[in-house]
Amino acid sequence: MQKLQGIAVSPGAVIGEALVMDTEGFRIPRRFVARDAVVDELERFNKAVTAAAVEIAHHRETVSAELGEKYGAIFEAHLQMLQDSRLRGEVEELIRQRHYSPEYAVSHVLRRYAQVFQRLESSHLAERANDIFDIEKRLLRHLLGRRREGISRLTSPVLVLAHNLTPSETSNLDRRFVRGFVTEIGGPGSHTAIVAEALEIPAVVGTGPFLTDVSGGETVIIDGDQGLVILSPDEETLAQYRREAEEKRIQATRLEPLRDLPAETRDNVRIELLGNIEFPYEVDHCVDRGADGVGLYRTEFLYLGAETEPTEEIHYQAYSRVVQAMGKRPVVIRTFDLGADKMPNMPHPEDNRNPCLGLRSIRLALRNLPVFRTQLRAVLRASVLGNVHIMFPLVSTLLELRQAKMVLADVMEDLQEHNLPFNRDLPVGMMVETPAAAMMADRFVEEVDFLSIGTNDLIQYTLAVDRANKDVGGLYNPVDPAVLRLIAMAIEAADRKQVPISMCGQMSGSPLYTILLLGMGLRRFSVTPSAIPEVKNLCRRVTIPECQIVAERVMTMENARDVKNYLKEEVKKYVEEVAE
Ligand code: PEP
Ligand code: MG
Repeated sequence: MQKLQGIAVSPGAVIGEALVMDTEGFRIPRRFVARDAVVDELERFNKAVTAAAVEIAHHRETVSAELGEKYGAIFEAHLQMLQDSRLRGEVEELIRQRHYSPEYAVSHVLRRYAQVFQRLESSHLAERANDIFDIEKRLLRHLLGRRREGISRLTSPVLVLAHNLTPSETSNLDRRFVRGFVTEIGGPGSHTAIVAEALEIPAVVGTGPFLTDVSGGETVIIDGDQGLVILSPDEETLAQYRREAEEKRIQATRLEPLRDLPAETRDNVRIELLGNIEFPYEVDHCVDRGADGVGLYRTEFLYLGAETEPTEEIHYQAYSRVVQAMGKRPVVIRTFDLGADKMPNMPHPEDNRNPCLGLRSIRLALRNLPVFRTQLRAVLRASVLGNVHIMFPLVSTLLELRQAKMVLADVMEDLQEHNLPFNRDLPVGMMVETPAAAMMADRFVEEVDFLSIGTNDLIQYTLAVDRANKDVGGLYNPVDPAVLRLIAMAIEAADRKQVPISMCGQMSGSPLYTILLLGMGLRRFSVTPSAIPEVKNLCRRVTIPECQIVAERVMTMENARDVKNYLKEEVKKYVEEVAE
């Protein structure tokens, strides 16, 4: 049994069979071969060894001729390892005796060899493990050839273990079979993490390297509450997780009756709880949890899941589905927030050294007007089907907001000319997710119908901490006093002008922060649908004056750790246990 600590990004725990994605993104399946196929499979393995040896010898010759014998010797060493009779014998033994497929046997044996090197004190020797991985990859390439399988063709439940998954790869995971995932890199606010919540599967990111310690088919536990990954768990651990799963199921059932009750505090203040969605199907999750609407529809996932730019009709169909399912309840459609870690199959910005500070989001939209206009047309056309709001992401200057509104007005004229119906009065709002927007909130409220605080980016830009980087994950903190001051500024500016304000960053879905946010004056929360019951439960147990006392105290504190510890104590007064 081996335990790894990572960053918990999507709650729940799951026990299952590992599917290991290698760094080239193809999977190493655990397969067995039929008894009568063993001879053929051994031959296939030997052919792969011969082909790999020819390839390596060729590299040795080329490199020796161009750079000298010393460099060619690197490949000579690879060749010797590949042809080592003991190593080959062990692979053959697994195929012959245990009926492993050659791919699985190669991976199994070579990874074990690599681990021996990795455990050595000398870093020079430990690097030899990379040579073994190189040989493993070469053999797998020859064995799998054209049959290299990606993650898309699954037939049974798996837990995906990968070095990294991009938001588009995550959004293309097969929901029927992927029960959880772990990535070696990635930070607490990455969009990969957000998609895991959309899929409602446990996920852990930022564990650091471990893929070489695990083979496909091994039993793994992903604990998305504690950020733990347990490889080959023992019986006791398995039993403990099964017990906890049962308790959780009972707890979830206890909260079910809340579905049809309003999120109303003990002193009768009605709180609105809306859902965040990335895919149209999630509107069903919102309906199931009794959401008051959709507070954030991240439409960029329409682009991420597609090979080409979505047409107006594709946009329209997606929006119609969501808007109609919500009936009279509001649906806030955010225009595409592409760039940074959400890169579609479109030409990438040329200068992309610092993508979070570069051409992303509304900036990208204003530079790609035809793409932006296509989306706006579809949103406007869908606006007659229900209660549609439109929202611009990552606005940092008034000029940007005005430009975006001008494009919207222009598209409205266009639709009118063509006699296409739309709601001219649809509310137009913006995200407050840059420190600039928070500091200028008093000016922005003069020009929008609503605001929504995006804490995921606000934290990143305020604290200069990359939300997707595990190495600075510990510095990424929603309750850092600097972040709280900006949130307070935005709420106060909105209240003064009586402009509705919500929060749609991940912070709003964590019950740990509910009391604080209520005390700071927030009355509208947009959260991952699965978080609605717990946040509602807490809202119904508190009074606003109680929350205000907590918020006042928090605003005097100097660091995030003190705030968190204090909030943990306060929340315990109302509910037994909360996850962050
Ligand atoms: C945010 O930044 O808080 C937000 C809701 O937007 P996203 O996570 O999509 O960047
Ligand atoms: Mg954002």
